[in-house]
Amino acid sequence: MIPIAKPHLTEHDAQAAYDAIMSGWITQGPRVSEFEEKFALYTGAKHAVAVSNCTTGLHLAMIVAGIKAGDEVICPSMSYIATANSIMYVGATPIFAEVHPETYNLDVSDVERRITSKTKAVLLVHQIGMPADIDAFAALCKKHNLILIEDAACAAGSSYKGKKIGSHSDLVCFSFHPRKVISTGDGGMVTTNNDAYAERMKLLRQHGMSVNAGARHGATKIIFEDHLEVAYNYRMTDIQAAVGIQQLAKLDWIVEERRKIAQRYLNELSDIDCIRLPREEEGYFTNWQSFSIYLKESAPLSRNELMQALLDKGVASRRGVMTSHRETAYKTICAGLELPQTEDACDRSIIIPLFVPMSDEDVSTVIHQLRSLLV
Ligand SMILES: *Cc1c(COP(=O)(O)O)cnc(C)c1O
Repeated sequence: MIPIAKPHLTEHDAQAAYDAIMSGWITQGPRVSEFEEKFALYTGAKHAVAVSNCTTGLHLAMIVAGIKAGDEVICPSMSYIATANSIMYVGATPIFAEVHPETYNLDVSDVERRITSKTKAVLLVHQIGMPADIDAFAALCKKHNLILIEDAACAAGSSYKGKKIGSHSDLVCFSFHPRKVISTGDGGMVTTNNDAYAERMKLLRQHGMSVNAGARHGATKIIFEDHLEVAYNYRMTDIQAAVGIQQLAKLDWIVEERRKIAQRYLNELSDIDCIRLPREEEGYFTNWQSFSIYLKESAPLSRNELMQALLDKGVASRRGVMTSHRETAYKTICAGLELPQTEDACDRSIIIPLFVPMSDEDVSTVIHQLRSLLV
């Protein structure tokens, strides 16, 4: 069976976790600080704040951006449900906008149509690693006095107009879940160029504590902490950060390897008339966190039939990115909402295997099976 995805984990990652454990310091400490410094340097952002996962990072981003009950935040429905949930956590309402059928990223004109006097922010997702048009959304946000927040959960290692995702705006949230390009088990990072945001997120992730554990540990005089506001435990552990440091060091290599596999898919599937392949436009550089193909009406079998036929041949696949507005949790607030492009993109797309290392034979098998079913 060829799996859909696999994290790239080696003895180096395991050794780093082992070393962290044997150091005696296992939760947020020196390795988290080192991972943050290296991640900031890698992305080109001024600060990076490590958190327990991307969802908690998005929650903190909503808080520091000042999003509150009664506010509206525009985001795609076609995303992992964490995107919309992070807006709900602060009592605000997610307003779902359409995605572009070829990139699955937010459609800027549809977003503009949905702006109201309650709109406070746009939560822009770089879906399955493909950068969204950050400049267009930054301009839109400036015009309407909105805050731009990026859900870059899938986009570590992707770039937009020559700069790494994470460097362009003031709140960019990453995930290190095993389904993403690099992993710490669970884990997340928020990058920002805003000093006040970084400082507040560091407070919020550990119950608003005025003195961190490292400072207390290193102090020669007794110090007592104060808790400045009601906050959260959204810490990353030093064991996770130790793995993250190793993963980050190989991120560019992993992305290059992923791009070679994606290039074979693009070359060797491009003549199949009944599917549409993803497109990477000039200035956009994707890490190919997932490789999605869209089945046109002319396809000889349905999406589900194709997935089952692939499975029968030993090739795993997944349905395309979910829609949030059709999930039970959102049925009430989304009653009557129709997003035809989003629903079509979700219902007619599948994700095919792409991971590192994936053998040439496995890539050939996926291509061969798709061709034999669709040509
Ligand atoms: C995976 C994902 C998340 C959630 O990340 P976690 O680290 O699992 O919390 C959020 N948004 C998008 C777009 C994702 O793909």
